[in-house]
Amino acid sequence: MKPISRSPLHTAFSFGDLTVFALRDGYVDMPPTRLRDEHGCPLVPVPDSVPLVDGNLRLSVNAFLVTDGTQSVLIDTGASNAWHPTMGSLPDALAEAGVDPADITDVAITHKHEDHVNGLIAPDGTQAFPRLERVWIGHGDSDVFTGRLDPIRDLVVPVSDRVAINDHVTAVPAPGHTPGHTVYEIRSSTGLLIAWGDTVHVPTVQFEQPHITWELDGRQPEARRSRLDLLDRLAVPGHFVAGAHLDSPGIARVTRDGAGYKLQYVTR
Ligand SMILES: [Zn+2]
Repeated sequence: MKPISRSPLHTAFSFGDLTVFALRDGYVDMPPTRLRDEHGCPLVPVPDSVPLVDGNLRLSVNAFLVTDGTQSVLIDTGASNAWHPTMGSLPDALAEAGVDPADITDVAITHKHEDHVNGLIAPDGTQAFPRLERVWIGHGDSDVFTGRLDPIRDLVVPVSDRVAINDHVTAVPAPGHTPGHTVYEIRSSTGLLIAWGDTVHVPTVQFEQPHITWELDGRQPEARRSRLDLLDRLAVPGHFVAGAHLDSPGIARVTRDGAGYKLQYVTR
C-alpha cells in the first residue's frame, strides 16, 4: 500500500494489482459525550489524547473507490447536501481523482446513516451516478431507500451473508453500529484491505481502548464485538484498514499494543 497521487480531496494508493482512491467528503463535528464506556455512560473525562475543536470531536468523512482498471466499486457516498454543509465534497473529490461518476456501476454502502448513503443523490435531486446498476447494502439497513433515496430502490442488492461483489471485493456483515452494518474486504495481489465503515469513530481513543463505544452504535455490545473481531483480524502484516471516520485519507495499518491496538496511517 503506497500513496501515488494526492490533492486536497483525494489520495490514490497503489495496492498490488489494485488502485484505491481515498475520497474526502468533508467532516462532521460531534459532542465528546457520544463516547461511551462499558456501561453505556458518557466517557468522563475524555482522554487528553483526544483533540477537540471548539469543544467537539471532529470526524473526517471518507469514501473509497477500489478499481483494477476494469471493475470498480465505490464504498460509501458521503452526505451530499442532506446533512451538515461541512460535507458533500465527494463529487469534487472524484473529479480531482479523474474518476467520471458515469463510470461507476457498483456502490457498496457500509450502513444507512446520512454521511454514507445520501451521496447517491446529487444536490439537484438527480442520481449522482447515472449508470449505476447495483447498490449493495446490509439487509438490515435496506429500508433506508425511501423519500430522497426512493429513485435508487430498484437497484438495491441486500446483503445478509458473506458475498463477493466482484473478483476483489467481498461484503461481510459486521452488525452493531446498525443492524445491517457491513464491511468490505478488498483482496489484492499484495494483501487485504478492510473498509470497515463506522467500526471506529474516534481513532485517538478507540484503538487504544477498543471497548469504548459510541452513543449512536445502535447495539453497543454487538458493535464492540464487531470492533474487537476486526481489530484482531487486521493486526497482521499485509493487512490494512480503510475507515470512514479515520483521519483523512483514512488508510492505516493496525498493530497490537498491550491490551489494545495502535494505528499507523499509510503516508508514504
Ligand atoms: Zn458515519
